[in-house]
Amino acid sequence: MTDWLQGTIIERRQWTDDLFSLRFEAPLAEFKAGQFARIALDIDGERVGRPYSLVNAPHEPLLEIYFNVVKGGPLSPRLAALEPGDTLWLSNTANGFMILDEVPEARHLWLLATGTGIGPFLSILKTDEPWTRFERIVLGHSVQHASELAYRELIDSLHAAHDDQFQYLPLVTRETVPGALNQRIPASIASGELEAQAGIALTAETAHVMLCGNSAMITDVTEELAKREMHRHRRREPGHITTEKYH
Ligand SMILES: Cc1cc2nc3c(=O)[nH]c(=O)nc-3n(C[C@H](O)[C@H](O)[C@H](O)COP(=O)(O)OP(=O)(O)OC[C@H]3O[C@@H](n4cnc5c(N)ncnc54)[C@H](O)[C@@H]3O)c2cc1C
Repeated sequence: MTDWLQGTIIERRQWTDDLFSLRFEAPLAEFKAGQFARIALDIDGERVGRPYSLVNAPHEPLLEIYFNVVKGGPLSPRLAALEPGDTLWLSNTANGFMILDEVPEARHLWLLATGTGIGPFLSILKTDEPWTRFERIVLGHSVQHASELAYRELIDSLHAAHDDQFQYLPLVTRETVPGALNQRIPASIASGELEAQAGIALTAETAHVMLCGNSAMITDVTEELAKREMHRHRRREPGHITTEKYH
């Protein structure tokens, strides 16, 4: 049984027709950057909850989620309709293994996301730990249209703070956009383009890869990395890949 806390919306941001973020206040227990909480609304007398990654870092006062509206989905369209002052429910703890505690030592950290899967990576990048642990950090964000490349201000500020240590690589699959790769993440790994843009090689000796978003990307990247002798990381069997599937 989930123990629910009430949260109050402080800020709603609409990024595109279908992409939204909500900032809200709630007394959530301590969590680790990269984890998710269950968010719920009472719909027709039933509490309907789904997991959402927290975009905020643990030290930040407001909680934040970033999500897309799934047409016909029970929860996401209703979350998108919330306004400041409205309330939602959230689980009193956050969970998940998309956290740096679960990442073994490596020189380079590759964070590869589709769509809203960038959320947990932003939470991690807002903390000090990745910047002290990894020589280089690559954030690859794959979207269909350039308008979906959200959180650019935050990413720019990470760049300003961490300069050569950080490489942001947008991938836009349905438009040609200057400065962005026009390929899916698996294809960009296969072609060598992602590494060329990052300026570092993606190898079993140097890299740990975190993947978040849709299952097709995660399956295809995992297969692609297997060709480089990279495999999933497990506590009992150290590896190179950590994943979280949203759908
Ligand atoms: C660990 C975890 C963390 C998650 N974190 C986030 C997050 O931070 N942001 C976010 O947007 N979503 C996230 N999700 C997905 C989220 O929990 C919901 O499934 C989604 O918001 C749709 O909710 P819904 O109730 O409207 O529809 P659902 O009943 O949940 O889903 C309806 C259908 O849409 C598919 N679907 C689910 N999510 C998506 C999506 N994003 N795009 C396209 N199709 C989808 C489902 O597979 C299902 O077939 C996460 C899922 C998991 C398992």
